Amino acid sequence: MNVQKSFGDVKPTLYLVPTPIGNFDDMTYRSVEILKQSDYIFCEDTRITKVLLVHFNIKTPLRNYHIFNEKIQCEEIIKLLKEGKNISLVSDAGLPCISDPGYYVAKWAIDEGFSVISLPGANAALTALIASGLPNDKFYFNGFLSSKKQQRLKQLESLQDKMETMIFYEAPHRIMETLQDMKKVFGNRHICIARELTKKYEEYIRTDIDTLLENVQELKGEIVIILEGSKITNEIEHLNNLSIFEHYNYYLNHKLSEKEAMKKVAKDRNISKSDVYKEIISR
Ligand code: SAM
Repeated sequence: MNVQKSFGDVKPTLYLVPTPIGNFDDMTYRSVEILKQSDYIFCEDTRITKVLLVHFNIKTPLRNYHIFNEKIQCEEIIKLLKEGKNISLVSDAGLPCISDPGYYVAKWAIDEGFSVISLPGANAALTALIASGLPNDKFYFNGFLSSKKQQRLKQLESLQDKMETMIFYEAPHRIMETLQDMKKVFGNRHICIARELTKKYEEYIRTDIDTLLENVQELKGEIVIILEGSKITNEIEHLNNLSIFEHYNYYLNHKLSEKEAMKKVAKDRNISKSDVYKEIISR
């Protein structure tokens, strides 16, 4: 059992400090204070974090910590904590550890018995979610999908029945391809594209996948995708009360291919695809 009294224990501490996702006004007073008081700040890219430090007149020495030197720098951070130093970890933007390096050192520092304190602050996923207009009582954060098409499709297929609103990060050069893949796997669903959050060209596109693909050819900048969860599961009971043929047609009307529709019907009814096929061709 690891019990940490963040404001009672006087132990060397690893602070996980959020930084703005575009707008420096989103830096918190507490983040600035903790960065000033720390002995070292570890960051992904010293050139990026340097700009932030200059802006807030923070003079703490900067060291780097990124996915390519994570293990070595982790050892260094633990060594510094053992010497009694307080360390802050930041990423290029937003919360460290969220689709960014940090987990490894946070876990190691906890295992070594140091305090690990996270400060609340800017995060692209939650900022997008709460303004998306999609349900947010339950949600699923996926972060980045694979850059490899086949793997990405597999990942999306594994999310097909998820009822929670889903959150994805995506790079601008892959976004249109990913949206096409989402259409292929999920059919038409409500979606919100949150782009360039907190920056001058911030934009929310609240629509459905089909309308988006019909009207938008390119999306630039930093992007969060908020996607409606599956309603199908709620409807399975109703669908299973239809004939197999009607059930199959329901999916065709929701823009699934014949093959996909057959697969879905078989899955919903817990019967084989060949039983579905026999029933359909007998019509
Ligand atoms: N740690 C960050 C956080 O807490 O949100 C996320 C870092 S991840 C490496 C970078 C991705 O986050 C971008 O590719 C984009 O999908 C999303 N992102 C970051 N800043 C954003 C912004 N201002 N607007 C929209 N999406 C953003």
